[in-house]
Amino acid sequence: HNGEAAVRKVKAAGQDEPAGDEAAIRVEGLHKSFGKLEVLKGVDFTVRRGEVVCVIGPSGSGKSTLLRCVNLLEEPTAGSVSLSGTELTDPDVDIDRVRRRIGIVFQSFNLFPHLSVLANLTIAQRRVLGRSKDEAERIARANLRRVGVAEKESVYPAQLSGGQQQRVAIARALSMDPELMLFDEPTSALDPELVGDVLAVMRRLADEGMTMMVVTHEMSFAREVADRVVFMDGGVIVEEGPPNRVIGDPQHQRTRTFLRRVL
Ligand code: ADP
Ligand code: MG
Repeated sequence: HNGEAAVRKVKAAGQDEPAGDEAAIRVEGLHKSFGKLEVLKGVDFTVRRGEVVCVIGPSGSGKSTLLRCVNLLEEPTAGSVSLSGTELTDPDVDIDRVRRRIGIVFQSFNLFPHLSVLANLTIAQRRVLGRSKDEAERIARANLRRVGVAEKESVYPAQLSGGQQQRVAIARALSMDPELMLFDEPTSALDPELVGDVLAVMRRLADEGMTMMVVTHEMSFAREVADRVVFMDGGVIVEEGPPNRVIGDPQHQRTRTFLRRVL
């Protein structure tokens, strides 16, 4: 049972909070339009602490927009988004403070090209969290080790493979001690032989109890790592549930059609 997997992982991560009911992310009645184009047409879902939720669906179905609404990179047209009970859509909330609690990794690695790997990891720690140089570097090095690129701290992003760059981007996000991580097709821009290393890092994070929302086309990753899979099409959630059901035995024709194309 799903919930038990989440509880196990939260315990494994050594967190004290009773796992289970507190939602890390709660999205209710979310609508998002760009001009006349309605991209999200009423989306409701929660991600519980320690849970890994994979979002799948055809291109243009609103997956990235949904992810971007979760940390208010896009402002919802209607509805609410809460993080551990803090409503982000409340105008009194300091959104910059809330955003610090969320790590996000994009398809394009978005590293600063003019900074070394180490400086990529320390700059926000120092400027945003006010950490000293020594502390920021210690944390940066620990996270580079965690993603397997410790020996690259002095090089510039252009000297790394795509897979290494993406692992550096993950390490950079982790250095900010996020409560949850959002991933938007983190392996879609990678050469096939580099995908596995990035997925392995994500799998390890999941095992450590990180709360994760992952937009991905990697169905075997979703099957093996997700506690829950959400299938989106046309700006709505068509179905969601454990991977064995949504991917293994989909209930809706639209899900079956999509899976036939990607599997
Ligand atoms: P997905 O990630 O599932 O491929 P997106 O959320 O990126 O889908 O996009 C959903 C729809 O919203 C697409 O039709 C896209 O063109 C449109 N869209 C996304 N962002 C914007 C934007 N900033 N301005 C206008 N249209 C957008
Ligand atoms: Mg997208």
